[in-house]
Parts: sequence; structure tokens; C-alpha cells
Amino acid sequence: MATRVIEESDVGAQVREEVRAWLEENHDEDRPLREWRQMLLDSGYGIPTFPKDWYGRGYSGGVARVVAEEFKRAGAWGLAGGMARSLASPTIVEHGDDEQRRRFIPPALLGDETWCQLFSEPGAGSDLAGVTTSAALHGDEFIINGQKVWTSGATSDTDYGMLVCRTDWDVPKHQGISWIAFPMKQPGVEIRPLKQMTGGAGFNEVFITDARAPAENVIGGVNQGWRVTTTTLAHERAGGVVVGLDEFTARRDGHQPADPRREQYRLLAQMPKMSDIAKEYGRNTDPVYRQEIVKHYILGEVTRLTMERGRVERKAGRPGPEGSTLKIQRNHVARLQRLLAPSMMGPAALLVGQDAPYKGAIPMQVLSSCGPMIFAGTDEIQHNIIAERILGLPKEPAIDIDVPFREVRTSGRRPT
Ligand SMILES: Cc1cc2nc3c(=O)[nH]c(=O)nc-3n(C[C@H](O)[C@H](O)[C@H](O)COP(=O)(O)OP(=O)(O)OC[C@H]3O[C@@H](n4cnc5c(N)ncnc54)[C@H](O)[C@@H]3O)c2cc1C
Repeated sequence: MATRVIEESDVGAQVREEVRAWLEENHDEDRPLREWRQMLLDSGYGIPTFPKDWYGRGYSGGVARVVAEEFKRAGAWGLAGGMARSLASPTIVEHGDDEQRRRFIPPALLGDETWCQLFSEPGAGSDLAGVTTSAALHGDEFIINGQKVWTSGATSDTDYGMLVCRTDWDVPKHQGISWIAFPMKQPGVEIRPLKQMTGGAGFNEVFITDARAPAENVIGGVNQGWRVTTTTLAHERAGGVVVGLDEFTARRDGHQPADPRREQYRLLAQMPKMSDIAKEYGRNTDPVYRQEIVKHYILGEVTRLTMERGRVERKAGRPGPEGSTLKIQRNHVARLQRLLAPSMMGPAALLVGQDAPYKGAIPMQVLSSCGPMIFAGTDEIQHNIIAERILGLPKEPAIDIDVPFREVRTSGRRPT
């Protein structure tokens, strides 16, 4: 109840009126998508949390949610989705210079240029600051060599990668990193899909051999990339507010970039409630299943309410630990769900395809549920963050943060 009172503040109510009026005047289902997106970009409603001068309206997350509700009510499309919107654009808004903001943000949000995230390497995942992909400056461009892995959604259509790479080997590891807007469509970039147990291939290995990036594509300054990287990761963990329908929701104008993960998202959207599965498979009178279903429901509700509370506290200027605990909580719910649904359904839970129960959503949930336990920082890394930053426990011992990175022994490549 308290949450609703704060959410529906005067500002929220006024913004709701304004958005309704704007949609009333401008929303037309027959308008070409590209033209509509340009209007969104110009109005600032596409990403209302961005600054007023940079394609947004400077709204808080709570007020932006009001905008999102109105767009949903109107069934209106949003700006182009994917990592271009969720990760690259907010990072460049925060750390790019004006020229870079003008160059990269509009094409990303209009859907003209797509992005992927070139962070993880075979020897640098949780320890991301240990990247060994190297970028060496030659004249006015960097020459880049190395290997990235688990690159989600990268295809031959992808235009840019958010490349985290080493630009100085003679300083401690966090101080020699740069974040580069890396052109993907060039010789020396080889994308190799990784086949997953879900049947899809949403990830890739990306091999980079003597590829190039203009020096002006460094975001946030050479060797200043660690703070830029942590901004990208913060946006990844937080999820952000999405205004309007996006590419995963439906198709329109054929304006839908190729994304190998679409089938996975489509199936997961069909996931039924645990209580509905129980009724359908005659488990709703079984006291053991009833206990588990209620536990799943309560955990889900606690997670939802924690999210709400975190939002209200942040809005009131009292940021708490909710952001760090939420990712772990969501994964607890997913773990319980992946045991409970197949247990109620028996062998039917193994079926895939259009004729399968719930069109095959259950095996897809079981097989893909481990992803969120790993990306954007594994559960163990989240536990470390909670232990150190929230509970004030002693820091993990580290022997490699004060010495020049060149002297640190890693399994990654070395500079030539
Ligand atoms: C669905 C999905 C999408 C992804 N998309 C992308 C992407 O688009 N771009 C990208 O760059 N990367 C992506 N990743 C990669 C992801 O960021 C890494 O997998 C993650 O950071 C973990 O790194 P790692 O796989 O190298 O595991 P490691 O870091 O080698 O960890 C192995 C195990 O050791 C544990 N561990 C490691 N360090 C510690 C510690 N200090 N304390 C306790 N336990 C520890 C980990 O929790 C884990 O269980 C994606 C991963 C997944 C699952």
C-alpha cells in the first residue's frame, strides 16, 4: 500500500497525463517503425531516464515506469532493444564525450546499428579485470588481438562490440584497461557460434586478429576503461526500465534484427503458473506439492516486493542492499521452479515442440535457468559483493592488484 502511495506521486500523475496526451496525438499504428522511433528519440520518452540533453527526460526510475505503463496500455512500440539500448547507450551517455554520444546513441536506439558485449575471455570471466585481449595504438588507430567468449547474440549483422581490452601492461590490472566501441564488420573478426544444451546457439567465441578500431572510439579515456566497464555491468545487473514493445515481443515492418535467442525468449514467455501445472497434472491435492507451490509463490512475491521496496528506497535517496540480493533471490525462485514443474509433470516435462505441454516451455526453463546464475556476475561473486560491501566482512585476499599486470601469471595471452 505504502508503495502505491509513493509511486503515484504528484509528479507521476502529471507525467501520466502528459504521456497520455502525447500518445493520443502522435501514436499511429500505421506509422513506419523507423519514423516512430525517431519521434520517440526526439521526444525523450523512448528512454526517459536519460538526461534531457541526451535523448531522455531526466526522469527517475519510478517516473519512467509510469511512462512505460502508458506505452504498454497504448500498445506502442519502443526504441530498438537489445544490448544497444540496455548496455551500450547508457554507458556512452555516462562516459562518452558529446561527439561520441551524437555518433553512437541515435543509430543504436533507432535500430540502425546493433551491439554485442565483448567482455569475457577464456581466462577472464569473474576476474574481468584480468582481460588479455590487447589493443596497441598505431597512429590514430588501435590494432587489436585476442579472444572473447560467451558473446551473446553476436552475428555477422552485429555492427559494434563493447570491447574491454588491455592498453597498458605495465600498470596494475585495473589501471591498464580501455572500453572501445569496436567495429565488428571487418577482416580479422571471426565469430564462431557455441551450441548449447537448449539446442540454440545464443553465444559465440569471437577471435580477433589484427583488427582495427579508430582511437576516437575509446569511451571514457585510454586506460580509464574499468570505471566504464563497471557502469555497463551495473546496467546489466539492474535490468533498467523498458518503455514500449520491443523486438522480442512481436514483429513489425520486418524491422527485426536477427537474434538467435528469440526462440528461447518466446518459449519462456509461455511458462505457466505452478498452480496451473498442479491442477492439470492432478497434483493440487497432494500436500507435499501444495507446500512447494506455496513456497515458490512466497519466494516469488518476496522477490517482487523486495524489488518494489528497493525502488521506493532509491527514489527516497536511501539506496539499500536490495540491488545485490535481488539477482540471487530471482535465481532461488528459478532453481525451485526447475525442480518443481518437471516433478509434477513426470515424463511429459521432457517433451519439446509445438505439440508438447506448454509448447515446450518447461524443458527450456530447466535448461536455460542456469544462465542468469552466471551472467553479469555469478551467484558466488554476488555473495562476495554482499559479504564485503554490505556485511563489511574482510575482503578476499588478492595478490595481483598492486603489481604491473605484465608480471601477473594468467592463462591468457601475453603482449608481443
Ligand atoms: C547466459 C549468459 C550470457 C552471457 N553473455 C555474455 C556476453 O554477452 N558477453 C560477455 O562478455 N560475457 C557473457 N557471458 C559470460 C559471463 O559474464 C561469464 O560466464 C561470467 O562472468 C563467469 O565467468 P566464467 O564463465 O569465466 O567463470 P569463472 O570466472 O571461471 O568462474 C568459474 C566458477 O568459479 C567461481 N568463482 C570465480 N571466482 C570466484 C571468487 N572470487 N569467489 C568465489 N567463487 C568464484 C564462479 O562463481 C564459477 O562458479 C554470459 C554468460 C551467460 C551464462
